[in-house]
Order: sequence, then C-alpha cells, then structure tokens
Amino acid sequence: MQEKTLQAIADSRDALTELTRELIRFPTVNPPGEAYTPCAEFIGERLKTSGFAIEYIRGEGTPGDNDTFPRTNVVARREGKRNGPCVHFNSHIDVVEAGDGWTVDPFDGVVRDGRIYGRGACDMKGGLAASIIAVETFLMHNSDYTGAIEISGTVDEESGGFGGVAHLASKGYFSKPRVDHVIIPEPLNKDRVCLGHRGVWWAEIETKGEIAHGSMPFLGDCAVRHMGALLHEFEQTLFPALDRKQTRMPVVPEGARRSTMNINSIHGGQTDDYTGLPSPNVPDRCKLTIDRRFLLEEAITDVKDEVIDILNGLKETRPNFDYEIRDIMEVMPLMTEKDTPVASAVASGIREIFDREPDYVISPGTYDQKHIARLGHLYDCVAYGPGILDLAHRPDEWIGIDDMVQSAQVMALALGQLLSEG
Ligand SMILES: [Zn+2]
Repeated sequence: MQEKTLQAIADSRDALTELTRELIRFPTVNPPGEAYTPCAEFIGERLKTSGFAIEYIRGEGTPGDNDTFPRTNVVARREGKRNGPCVHFNSHIDVVEAGDGWTVDPFDGVVRDGRIYGRGACDMKGGLAASIIAVETFLMHNSDYTGAIEISGTVDEESGGFGGVAHLASKGYFSKPRVDHVIIPEPLNKDRVCLGHRGVWWAEIETKGEIAHGSMPFLGDCAVRHMGALLHEFEQTLFPALDRKQTRMPVVPEGARRSTMNINSIHGGQTDDYTGLPSPNVPDRCKLTIDRRFLLEEAITDVKDEVIDILNGLKETRPNFDYEIRDIMEVMPLMTEKDTPVASAVASGIREIFDREPDYVISPGTYDQKHIARLGHLYDCVAYGPGILDLAHRPDEWIGIDDMVQSAQVMALALGQLLSEG
C-alpha cells in the first residue's frame, strides 16, 4: 500500500506542478491582503471533491480586516472510518510583495528547468500544494484510515498571523481534542525537520529632550544626542555580550545560533517629508525600535533587564537623561523535542525517502507555530516542507519540482504513521 502511494505521488508530478502554478496566480499579497477569499475558495472547492468538509472562517476585527480585504481562512476536515488522532497540515496563503528585480512575471507560475518561479513559490504555496497532493494520494490508497485529516490555508502569516492562525487558535481550531499533530510546510528544505524558533522581544524606547531653536541648542536638550548615548552603550556592552550567548538550539543559519538584536528603526527631530527640509529645532524626543531575538537558555525578564539596566545606568550618569520604554511584542522561544510523535514521523519519512538521517533545525525567526503553542496549547508541531528558505521574499523566488514530489512523499509517510499510531 505504501509503495503504491509513493509511486502515485511520483506519477502526480504534473498535477503537483499545475496546482502550485494555480496557487501562485492568486496574488495574495500582504499587505494589504489581496485575493485571500478567491484563493481560500479555490482550496476549499478542490478539497470538497476529495470528501472534505469545508469551513471558511474570517478573521473579523483582526488587523487589516475589512470588506475590501477580508481575512478569509479555509479549514478542511475529513473524518476517517474510526475515531483516532487528527493530523493537520497548515499553510499560510499570503505572500509578501513581489518587489523589483524579477526576470519573470511573479504571478504567472513560470516553469523552467524543473523549477516553478513566482512570488510564494517556496514561501509557501509549493509546500501547500505538496501537502494537498500528499493527502489526496494517501486517501486514494488508504480509504480505510483511522482518525481525521485537516488541511488549512490561513492568512496574514507575513504580518504576524493575527487574522490567520492566531484567530483560529483562539477559537479552538488548533487544540486537542480536535487536533493532535500539526505539520507546517514552510520551506525549510526537504530533508530537515524544523523544531521551533528563537524568542522575540520588540520594544520601543523613547528618549526625552526639550525643544529650542536650532541656532541656540544650549537652550534646549537634544533627545537625539541622548539616544546616541544609548546606542554607544549598546555598541560598547550589549552587542558584545549578546555575541557571547551561544545556544544548544540548532538554529540555522549558524550566525543565528546566539542572541541577536536589530535596531529596526530610529526617528528623531521634525519630519522632512513636507518640504524636503526639517525646520531648525532641537528634537524633544527620539524613538528607537529594537528587535531582540533570544534563546531557550534566556528568561524574558533577564532579556528586558539587560536593556533597562543600561537605560537606568545612563539616567544616573548622564545629565537630564530620561526615557520611556514600551513593549510591542513578545514571543517565547520554542523547541519541540525530537522524540515527539510528529517529529519522529517526519524523521522516519525522511529516512525512507532519502536514505539518510534528517537534520534538525530551529528557525531564526518565528512563524505560525508560536500561536499554536501559545493559544492552542498544542506542542506536537513541526515545520517541514520543500524549498530553500534563503529564496523566500526575494526576486525570482522558485521551488524545485523534484523537491516538492519528494517532500509530498515524506508527508504521506508521516501522515500514515501518525494515523496508524492512533
Ligand atoms: Zn512562510
């Protein structure tokens, strides 16, 4: 039975290619969140013909949701002959803007030399198509299965997932007893299992000053210079300290196998948007956004204290230094253990198809798994899918057709194992 399924997936190469191209042709660009409804309905209509019950769930009231750009998610569920575990494949249908530098139409699904090109080809419509073909083929050869299978197409992953997986998770779509195992076909490579991601803390720091005429700055107090003092402290003490914090998490690429912090933005002084020149004022405030990525070995309170201690140190040593700090977002680091059912099932699929041990990796950035853990309290979840992460969001993004076929075979094997264990 297993041999037949694997062969049938190999024979579905053309169907898999066509499905990926059709998905790419929906320009589901986020922001603003275009074409979500027709794309979700396309997935729903297709799965209905394979016996799935289809639900469309709109992320009402979530960021960006309105009647012009509704946040339409699709969840498809097919019950087996007997009660048992539910395996869920979750893919985001949104893509980032195409940007410049393309040599092909980013929304046409051009096929060339065994690759499909297009925005979202690898991140992650190729993975979505592979999971659909894997499930459809599995059903043809295993109609007597136990348990349930779900496939979802969700929105807004690229902007935080609030109208997509977070919305569904808050309504119980990613919790037991409804769902037991989740595979997210993000492009982490066909022979790697992604167990989770580093943590995130975003914060806005504002330094305070006093406005005065730019010709007499000594009458005021420059908030940008106070911010400069903070950046100087970051360079002297914080960045070197972060570099030294190594982790046991197998983060890829290796440069991210430690703590990092990015300065996402800095704004100070009057805007020059109107006349091309700001007026001569001493800036009375300056704002900085930091993006700190942290490790399983770090507590979020310590991560915050490192920054707050520097700010308080400046308050003691630097005349008139005053600040405010505001949390924007925090996400805990996540690492599913290798011996959990879903990680083992995907790993054994990889062993069978590629005849090698899988690599276990951790993503440097977060994806929708965070909501499944945080809101759904479901921890048996991995990301596994075809495609090369480095190609995501870039011009001439592509996915290899052979990689999709092999990945679909791994997914079908993992699905069979997880359902039979029930
Ligand atoms: Zn993605």
